[in-house]
Amino acid sequence: MKVYVDKTKCTGCEHCFDVCPVAAFEMKNIADDPDGSKGLINADETPLEQQWKGKEDQSVYAKWNNDVQKCHDHYKKKSVAVNGSACILCQACLIECEGECITIIDDQGTTYHSIYK
Ligand code: SF4
Ligand code: SF4
Repeated sequence: MKVYVDKTKCTGCEHCFDVCPVAAFEMKNIADDPDGSKGLINADETPLEQQWKGKEDQSVYAKWNNDVQKCHDHYKKKSVAVNGSACILCQACLIECEGECITIIDDQGTTYHSIYK
């Protein structure tokens, strides 16, 4: 199973981290990797266009800074699917992901997306 998080949409709400029974996700502090260049925030198999680039991607950064941080001052993290190979496809994270930004691809190539709303 391949699991990754669209970092351009992740709000840092931690719902995936809380519900996953196999600890597929870890929360990483933005402050430790502000533009994603250290490989902490983008440590899963997230495609390049969905990776966190911090202030280098101003449209994403401004939205995150304005919308997410003003509403959720304590959300200063991004979720990273560090253990996607352990996924049992229970789909709990897909239901709970408020950013609708988790993708899972099973061994047959079927793709599953977040369905929060
Ligand atoms: S679908 Fe996979 S990654 Fe998501 S909560 Fe279930 S086991 Fe964890
Ligand atoms: S549930 Fe979704 S939005 Fe919330 S931290 Fe996990 S990946 Fe990010």
